[in-house]
Amino acid sequence: MEHSSSPLRLIENEFNPKRLGLDEPFCGTSRNELVSRLSASSQCRLLKSCETVPLNKGQILYDRGTPLRHAYFIESGGCSVTTRAGDCLPVEIHTLGMKDFVGVPLVLGMHVSPHRCSVRVPGQALRIQSDQLISLIKKDVELEKMLLGYVQAILIHSSQLSACNSRHTLHQRLARWLLVASDRLGSREVPFTHSYIANALAVRRAGVTVALGSMMRDGVIGCRRAGIVVMDEARLKAMSCDCQGIILSAHNRPCAVPPLRIAYS
Ligand SMILES: [Zn+2]
Repeated sequence: MEHSSSPLRLIENEFNPKRLGLDEPFCGTSRNELVSRLSASSQCRLLKSCETVPLNKGQILYDRGTPLRHAYFIESGGCSVTTRAGDCLPVEIHTLGMKDFVGVPLVLGMHVSPHRCSVRVPGQALRIQSDQLISLIKKDVELEKMLLGYVQAILIHSSQLSACNSRHTLHQRLARWLLVASDRLGSREVPFTHSYIANALAVRRAGVTVALGSMMRDGVIGCRRAGIVVMDEARLKAMSCDCQGIILSAHNRPCAVPPLRIAYS
C-alpha cells in the first residue's frame, strides 16, 4: 500500500527486511540520485527525517544572508543558485536537479546562506530540517561522506566554470551549459529561456539566440515551447569544450577518501 501523504512512500505488508538482509525496516526510496547512492540502512535513517514537499516555480528555498532552516534533496524539477555582481541581474552559478542537494553551507558547518536558491522548474524534493541533518551527519559516516563528496564536486564544478568562462568560445560554453544542465535535471529537455541561459553564461541574449539557432539548424538541439531539447548528445559533446566532461566526472565520481570530521554546531 502506498501512502501518498507519506514522504517515505512506506510499503507495508509487502516487504520482509530480514529476508533481504536489512537491519532496519524498509523506508522507501528516493528519486534523488545522491540519496539512492546510500546503503539501505543509511537511506532509511535519512528518509525517516525527511518530508516530501512541492517545488513551486519562483519559490525561494534560501536567500543571501538568511538562516538555512532546511536542506533539500531534489527529486524532480530544477533550481538555480545565483549570486549578485554589483547592480547587474543575479548571475547563475549552478543549475540543480534530481542529482543535487540544496544546503551545501550546512555540510561545511555554516548556518547562513551566501547565495540565493530559487525554483525554476516545478517539481518536488525531500526536505529535512537543518538541525536534523546535522545530527544525522554526526551519526552517519556514510551520509557525511556522500555529502562531502558532493561539496567536492561542487567546488570542482565552480572552478571549472571559472576557467571555462575565461578561455572558451561562446559556442563551446553554450554546448557545455546545455550538457551539464541536461545531466543535472536528468532530462533531455532543458526548459530555460534564451535570457536565462545568457545570464548563466554572462553574455548578451542575442549571441545565445544566434548560437542556439545554428545548433538547431544542425539538428543537435530542438526547440519546444518550454525550452530546448537535446537531440544529439554525441554531437553536442563534440561541440563543447572538455569542461563538461570534467564537471560531470566530478559529480559522478564516488567519494573514496575517508571523511573529514567537521565541528558541526
Ligand atoms: Zn570550457
